[in-house]
Amino acid sequence: MKFKAETIIAPLLAWYDRHKRDLPWRESLDPYRVWLSEIMLQQTTVQAVIPYYAKFLKHYPDVHALADAPAEHVMRDWAGLGYYSRARNLHACAKMVVHTLEGKFPHTPAGLKTLPGIGDYTAGAVAAIAYGQRATVVDGNVERVISRLFAIETPLPASKPDIRAQAQLIYHDDANTRPGDLPQAFMDLGSSVCVPQNPKCPLCPVEHVCEARKLGIQNALPRRVREKKKPERIGYVYWVEDGKGDVLLERRPDKGLLGGMAGLPTSEWAHGREHPAHLDGFEGKPLPETVRHVFTHFALTLQIVRMTGKKAPKGFRWQPIESIDDAGLPSLFMKVVKLLRLRV
Ligand code: SF4
Repeated sequence: MKFKAETIIAPLLAWYDRHKRDLPWRESLDPYRVWLSEIMLQQTTVQAVIPYYAKFLKHYPDVHALADAPAEHVMRDWAGLGYYSRARNLHACAKMVVHTLEGKFPHTPAGLKTLPGIGDYTAGAVAAIAYGQRATVVDGNVERVISRLFAIETPLPASKPDIRAQAQLIYHDDANTRPGDLPQAFMDLGSSVCVPQNPKCPLCPVEHVCEARKLGIQNALPRRVREKKKPERIGYVYWVEDGKGDVLLERRPDKGLLGGMAGLPTSEWAHGREHPAHLDGFEGKPLPETVRHVFTHFALTLQIVRMTGKKAPKGFRWQPIESIDDAGLPSLFMKVVKLLRLRV
């Protein structure tokens, strides 16, 4: 390390006191609220999370309410926020905290990491913010700020251990007298000043110690290995009406993508050029419209098939179309609903 942690910590915290973002989950240090917000914020923007955070607090004001809720309600309330394994883990974690830990979250990163859905980042964030522990908290914003402060030129993801080691030196320094605020100060700096393109260095409280700024390479950092193009998958999605104003929905299997969520029926999602077979027992025809959705590991294109049917097959149910917005459909299927509304 080329400079002392205190030359970063003091000016950064002073800046945070003046410029910190006003976010709903910062109104309380209740571990349940801190944990809930941190799970929601994984790979999701602050703006997208705000209404979901409010909805969850209204429906599940504490960890007991969440643990006692039926899984379908939790999944329905999460619908649209994406990365649905987070919702399943959220529910499993709440149950574990209530049934094996007397409703109390562990205080340390190591203890928190024993719970479902809690990895390094979330464990550090909850321990630091809710319990004031000196913990190493590194999200995408912190990664960018640290890469630049220390001019780490190794591309991501290979540079992650180095970034984490540098962050650890700062977070665990004796000068870190506000362990809950420091990670949030780094995150706010990354989201408003040390932004990905054209960082606003003249406004930065740690410009005086920033190696990338000295070298004039701040815009090029952090370097990244170019991502490979995602594989493509194709299939059909079926809009099946019963002629009485209902549409056919299923509850997707618990395991796998969108597991446990409500969904429109689909074919298998195949790799090949040939489309897989239609839904058995119903009649209809493909529409020209397709929906496209990019998941973490592949991109999916589904052609919409409009069908009619009378009897819901096992595992399926009829949902009144007029209340389809309340069915808890994830974004992939809401794209189909929106497209079909445009057709009417
Ligand atoms: Fe980021 Fe510029 Fe501040 Fe360095 S000086 S941390 S590049 S905003």
